Amino acid sequence: MALAGRMGRLGTETAFDVLARAQSLAQQGRDIINLGIGQPDFPTPEHIVAAGRKALKDGHHGYTPAQGILPLREAVVADLAARRGVEVAPDRVVIVPGGKVTMYLAITLFGEAGTEIMYPDPGFPIYRSVIEFTGAKAVPIALHEASGYSFRAEEVLAGITPRTRLIIVNSPGNPTGGVVPKAELDRLVAGLARHPEVMVLSDEIYARMVYDGAAHASLTAYPELADRLILLDGWSKTYAMTGWRIGYGVWPAPLVEPAVRLAVNIYSCVNAATQYAAIEALRGPQAEAEAMIREFARRRDLIVHGLNRLPGMRCPLPGGAFYAFPNITGTGIGSRRLQDELLEQAGVATVSGTSFGIHGEGYLRFSYANSIANIERALARIQAHLASR
Ligand code: PLP
Repeated sequence: MALAGRMGRLGTETAFDVLARAQSLAQQGRDIINLGIGQPDFPTPEHIVAAGRKALKDGHHGYTPAQGILPLREAVVADLAARRGVEVAPDRVVIVPGGKVTMYLAITLFGEAGTEIMYPDPGFPIYRSVIEFTGAKAVPIALHEASGYSFRAEEVLAGITPRTRLIIVNSPGNPTGGVVPKAELDRLVAGLARHPEVMVLSDEIYARMVYDGAAHASLTAYPELADRLILLDGWSKTYAMTGWRIGYGVWPAPLVEPAVRLAVNIYSCVNAATQYAAIEALRGPQAEAEAMIREFARRRDLIVHGLNRLPGMRCPLPGGAFYAFPNITGTGIGSRRLQDELLEQAGVATVSGTSFGIHGEGYLRFSYANSIANIERALARIQAHLASR
């Protein structure tokens, strides 16, 4: 059996490998504290679950339009107007089975041999994986610890070549929790005026999770970018809906047809009942989502404070998402090694920074989507482990 050559270029998300190993250790009776997985530890709010159940009861069992049902696209448009202050027509919204799918569609629309796509590093591993799958060259954009894990606009602009088709921005970011300051976005957008052929994919899946009262700086705020910006957002993180598989993209008008054509070839449409639940998420009460985000802010303070007290670790306060990304070089242990030791010996699942790109060596990702009590227990275990080495 000979797989197509491009399969050799397709990577994966090692956070899922860590999850599998953590689960298998737990099944063997080990007490594992999971700070590895990037999903909220809260259930989906009950009124959203009820809307999904009602949709099934009401007979929404069939295919829907590939682009998503109109009432959901209208709810997305209303949410974009209320939260980001942008006006878009519902026919520019494409509902997809998970935020990840907008990423796949955008990268496959633009990537091919002879082209370049720029992506954040350390960053969500699927960017690079899919870029290379398409045959395009994956060009990392370095994120800097000293700048709160932001990129530097002048470095991004200097990396653009005549072959660059797409630039991916992710703020707040996975795995760092870093937020790109508005001034940096201003500089990037100003510089992109000189490169009108370059498209931008803005992955804003963590937009609602920004802390310290800061407003989320969105690339949708720049009208001069509107005809070449693809916005990626969704429900997974904000409403604790990772398993429902739903997200959305907002596309420049000419890209909607090719994006939907790809969708029809792959998955036809998103689960109908999930789409009705997603309407309820956007239009219904926001209290539970907001309480979850407040809880993440408390945990962030706890874990960052705790990590900074561990010998050899240094952790900037992340501005968003639910990840802490300490620099661990002072421990003298490599990232992958420390990930494995903490899981196998201390019973704490984390993800090595190297899972997120070449610039991730020397870092570990901690997801604080776990209870305060478990975060405290994990910190104590790590401290004991480091002391015992
Ligand atoms: N973008 C980033 C940066 C993420 O971290 C994730 C999930 O971890 C996604 C997109 C995909 O989310 P979804 O589960 O909706 O596909």
